[in-house]
Amino acid sequence: MFDWWKFLFLMGLSATALIRAPHWLRNARNRVADDRASPLDLALLWLAVVGTGVVPVVYCMTPWLDFAGYPWPSALRGVGACVFAFALWLLWRSHADLGENWSVTLKVREGHGLVTGGVYRHVRHPMYAAFFLWGVAQWLMLPNGIAGPSHLVTFGLLYLVRMPREERMMLDRFGDEYRAYAARTGRLWPPVG
Ligand code: SAH
Repeated sequence: MFDWWKFLFLMGLSATALIRAPHWLRNARNRVADDRASPLDLALLWLAVVGTGVVPVVYCMTPWLDFAGYPWPSALRGVGACVFAFALWLLWRSHADLGENWSVTLKVREGHGLVTGGVYRHVRHPMYAAFFLWGVAQWLMLPNGIAGPSHLVTFGLLYLVRMPREERMMLDRFGDEYRAYAARTGRLWPPVG
């Protein structure tokens, strides 16, 4: 039987690629001033590609992971689709706001500017927040013990290693400007109070 939720999920996944591709192509031409990609960071990035892309696509397009399936209410899959829609909006806005300062791995480009407006106004890592929301959407939309949590687990690992290194890099580059920005913002969530 055709599974519309899998279809909808694959549409969302395609949308993430369409949002990112033009930025990827344009920013590939950037001249790099400081490259902080480490072997661990790169290994976890590839693991996240598997968990956020390969595993869910295999689940949606083949019966290979069906042994790990479980029953799940459609209403929760619907909630997942709404979360995915919001994650796509946040991913699109964070790319638009970061512009040429975005890179897949940790880098500072020549002429790098500190972005503190748009979705970066209250949150330092809105793109990573979008990835976590997309992971929640995957978990809610794909009722499978492997394909459901694979995004949250692999991206969570990448985040734990990368986020402190990224903040260190930004501090080294922007000093007090970044310190002040960090003091008035939250990491994934606006500061409360
Ligand atoms: N952590 C951010 C950005 C992810 S992309 C987010 O989740 O939205 C990673 C690259 O973005 C890093 O290599 C760094 O050079 C750049 N970057 C991160 N925060 C930035 C900011 N506030 N302004 C400009 N560039 C930033």
